[in-house]
Amino acid sequence: MTLPLWFDPTEMLIGGQWLPAPDRLPVENPSTGQEMAEIGRAGAAEVDAAVHAAQDALEGDWGALTAAERGRVLMRMSQLVLDNAEALATAEALDVGKPLSQARADVTALARYLEFYGGAADKVMGETIPFQNGYTAYTLREPHGVTGHIVPWNYPMQIIGRSVGAALAMGNAAVLKPAEEASLTALAFARIATEAGLPPGALNVVPGLGEEAGAALSGHPGVNHLSFTGSVGVGQMIQTAAARNVVPVTLELGGKSPQIVFQDADLARALPFLVNAGIQNAGQTCSAASRILVERSRYDEVVALMAARYKTLIAGPALSDLSLGPLISARQKEIVEGYLALASDLEIAALGTISPDAPETGHYVTPTLIAGGHGDHRLAQEEIFGPAQLVIPFDTEEEAIAIANGTDYGLVAAVWSESGPRTMRMARKLRAGQVFLNNYGAGGGVELPFGGTGKSGHGREKGFEALYGFSALKTVAAWHG
Ligand code: NAD
Repeated sequence: MTLPLWFDPTEMLIGGQWLPAPDRLPVENPSTGQEMAEIGRAGAAEVDAAVHAAQDALEGDWGALTAAERGRVLMRMSQLVLDNAEALATAEALDVGKPLSQARADVTALARYLEFYGGAADKVMGETIPFQNGYTAYTLREPHGVTGHIVPWNYPMQIIGRSVGAALAMGNAAVLKPAEEASLTALAFARIATEAGLPPGALNVVPGLGEEAGAALSGHPGVNHLSFTGSVGVGQMIQTAAARNVVPVTLELGGKSPQIVFQDADLARALPFLVNAGIQNAGQTCSAASRILVERSRYDEVVALMAARYKTLIAGPALSDLSLGPLISARQKEIVEGYLALASDLEIAALGTISPDAPETGHYVTPTLIAGGHGDHRLAQEEIFGPAQLVIPFDTEEEAIAIANGTDYGLVAAVWSESGPRTMRMARKLRAGQVFLNNYGAGGGVELPFGGTGKSGHGREKGFEALYGFSALKTVAAWHG
């Protein structure tokens, strides 16, 4: 199949120049398992050149812009994303394997991140501090300098929007290393940034392998801040590399997020959120609600309602735009099927189907609803990253909290109950970076700070909070007598 690309995906962007990469990597279409393009494979030398180009941009045209001017560039980028929406959505759908309508939502989110951070660029302020007589003391928010962004394959556009958008708004110069499995929209985004007038070197994109380009970027002494989204194991390596250079790092490493359904929940409202938050992007979502905890008196009812929905789910090629697409790779499919094999001591409450149009060579996994679980089961402890959810009964509020908080992770949690005091109490007690009461909105909400505790990582992206993370605070104390 021919990809609808309007640029050469084998080139990298360094210092405003589109350059051929020294080597190439194949791009697989997860819906078919076939190669559909090639991207560049940058190595340490290209990463080094990108970091130097970013440093030069800070000293040059990019560093000279006012905050309002930076904001206007981001706004132009936002508009160009919308102008190219269908091409971006198609590229993302084919590259990641996600249904076209979900890829379209990602384009909208990218445009909104750029609009939000464009509008916020000139609204980040310091404080004046009451201090000793004869002094005026105040704080300044300044860019860190060069920010390194290592992003995964599951939501390239959304994650680029939230991290690169915020970093640029604060005046940093970014070096972006997209995931080798899905780099196309990162490259398209860079074309858009250039077209929007982003000065050379403010954004550099070096596609390549994690252990090559990624490791070179995270260990580069010229990088002043690292933003990483991906697996816990690589997150630990990134944090170690950051420690060596003593630079701040934002880690977003996934989760085992629970939705907790109490006996007084509005089930009609809850039901679509319960299922969608598990199977969106074929479950390959850091904030996937992979555990559904249900008060025992309504447990059978919730399992039956979710099962009825699962039976209507169909996995198929991205452009067929069914309920879900394939997984990103044969490797991820193997990992997820390994997890599903662990359900042999539990009840398979319902299965979805795989469309007859889905090629055998694609990486499709049947959506699977598993019931009768308990909080200590491996399926209730480890991130599956596939279209499967586990339903677990509980008897008391205390037990629900203990199960919900009883994993290494702490990214997102939701509570379904018509009791206001109970939802507020739960919001206090749940160990998570985001708590949703009678909704599950982790995927959206550009304005809402996002990040985790425990092995879900640390630091916050999204919302205004991200601007603090992508800036350094300087205190000035002036004596004037
Ligand atoms: P990964 O952590 O290996 O890859 C994420 C990014 O890190 C990619 O850009 C990759 O090139 C880069 N990377 C890999 N090794 C690196 C290294 N040594 N130094 C620097 N950068 C490096 O994730 P994966 O292998 O693609 O997926 C495996 C698991 O990770 C999934 O099953 C899932 O549990 C988790 N994951 C989580 C998220 C999330 O949103 N939090 C996203 C993707 C994957």
